Amino acid sequence: MKYKFDTDIAKSSILLIYTGGTIGMKMDSADQTLKPFDFSQILEEVPELGKFAYRIDSCTFESVIDSADIEPKSWQKMVELIEDKYDLYDGFVILHGTDTMAYSASALSFMIENLTKPIIFTGSQLPVGTARTDGKENLISSVEIAAAKDSAGHARVPEVCIYFGNSLMRGNRSQKVNSENFRAFRSENYPYLAEAGINIRYNDGSILKPSDWDRKPSFHTALDTRVSILKIHPGITPQVVRNILCGPETRAVILETYGAGNAPSRQWFLDLVKEGIAMGKIILNVTQCLAGSVNMDLYATGKKLEEAGVLSGYDSTTEGALAKLFYLMGTSEDNRFVTSELGRNLRGEITK
Ligand code: ASP
Repeated sequence: MKYKFDTDIAKSSILLIYTGGTIGMKMDSADQTLKPFDFSQILEEVPELGKFAYRIDSCTFESVIDSADIEPKSWQKMVELIEDKYDLYDGFVILHGTDTMAYSASALSFMIENLTKPIIFTGSQLPVGTARTDGKENLISSVEIAAAKDSAGHARVPEVCIYFGNSLMRGNRSQKVNSENFRAFRSENYPYLAEAGINIRYNDGSILKPSDWDRKPSFHTALDTRVSILKIHPGITPQVVRNILCGPETRAVILETYGAGNAPSRQWFLDLVKEGIAMGKIILNVTQCLAGSVNMDLYATGKKLEEAGVLSGYDSTTEGALAKLFYLMGTSEDNRFVTSELGRNLRGEITK
């Protein structure tokens, strides 16, 4: 990590963590593709940050990356860095590529328990050095949100969030829904935590608060990544389903089903689900729809999955379900424990 420290004494202190992504990319004239560049140039492009009376320090990942290259070890690095600096800052802003931002925000929401400070992920669709960039507003408002406190002096939003296109969303409820539009992220199953216009309007009733502000957070870096995602589609074959549901390398499978949690009712499919479960696999049902919840009691096709032992992912995003499984399986080898925790709302990721 490389650090740049500002020595000004100010009201709030923010740590900006740069991991890469379009916000800090530049066109490489050799091959005409966007590649990440040095963080100091981003700060030069956003002199407006100097207008805040906050102390803003920054640090950058040794090698900045396109977020398509994010791995669980990148999340571990982010969590270790935040743990190390937790007492020194009031909030954290992570600059990150948009492609996997929802995965990273989901992961950090589970990896840090009893969070008392904001961790705001943001990035942009256009590099910060371009005339029409969305990066400046995203970065400036993220810093303001990360620094915001209530009348008791507590963080206004002590959650892992994504701020993008004027909206603040719970990280584990967010999904990238548009590869071009400046409003690239949505949170369909949970209200926005804030909206930025002339003022930043906080939706205080929807923001999670810790039960004890004085309790130290717990930082968890053990992750078990033996998870596959099986998206159901018409024409899916027994060979494909068998490879994923009964493969030796998976401990859990996320079944992305139709609508309210429905899958084909053909016998071969149900037999393979049962075979996977008999092998000890955890199978979690998440809907392919952007909004709404799994309800396996609604249709006979869903009911058969439930009877076979498939677990409900409720209204979880796929990104949230993956992160929750990585985290829970990392904390325990006991599938009964993982199964029972999957049914609990741990970080506001499901509605129950
Ligand atoms: N490919 C880029 C990334 O995720 C896209 C972006 O940042 O918008 O790093």
